[in-house]
Amino acid sequence: MSERTTVVRSAVGIWLLGVLGAAATAHWLLPADPQAGLFALGLLCMAYTLAAFVLARREAGLTALLPLAWAAGFGMWLPIGQDFGVETMAPTMLEWGVAESMVGPMASAAVLFVGGVASGAMMYLGTASAATFWHVLLLTALVAGASLSHNDNPTTTFAAAIAWHAGVAGSLMRWASHAAWAARTGVCPRCQEDIRGVTDGSCPSCKLTLVCQSPARLVRPVPTEQPVRHDRAA
Ligand SMILES: [Zn+2]
Repeated sequence: MSERTTVVRSAVGIWLLGVLGAAATAHWLLPADPQAGLFALGLLCMAYTLAAFVLARREAGLTALLPLAWAAGFGMWLPIGQDFGVETMAPTMLEWGVAESMVGPMASAAVLFVGGVASGAMMYLGTASAATFWHVLLLTALVAGASLSHNDNPTTTFAAAIAWHAGVAGSLMRWASHAAWAARTGVCPRCQEDIRGVTDGSCPSCKLTLVCQSPARLVRPVPTEQPVRHDRAA
């Protein structure tokens, strides 16, 4: 089995575990104890993000730590943000003539969307992949839209949780398998340029931020000087 097959199989395996974990949490824990359910979903997201980083041989550092901490804290920042959102947006919404029953769901959806922008930015910090940012943003917009139209419907919540985690884990695994392969072969994941020996953190050809360790990149290739023999022409 080639190393490339191993990388892809690991990525698919992690994705599957992420989806099954999200389904189990959304089915059993979330309806019984919403607070614990949100915490568990955040920790699950942190776990597959960490797995993606390990698979991709991502360099350790603050830009890797921040998205992990952000994901792990999901169960904490979402309820706080939603309370804050309802409190600050409700008076304005009522002034604008929004029906009182819609103020809560609309403020929650708005906070969810803002959380999605922040989550996308955090994942961008971790992966330096614009595609991952847009995937997280679009998935969160879908979930926010679904929560607005079918608020508190358990089936919608269940489907939204699975869809979001399947999409985000899928996007991360897609990134990780490209990055893992690039790290192992010493080529840029975007433009396939040889990046061995590059030490300033970005691809010299396409300027992509390089966040993954490439063993070849840590060692500067020593220029091999061949003794040149000058045969003097007589
Ligand atoms: Zn490049």
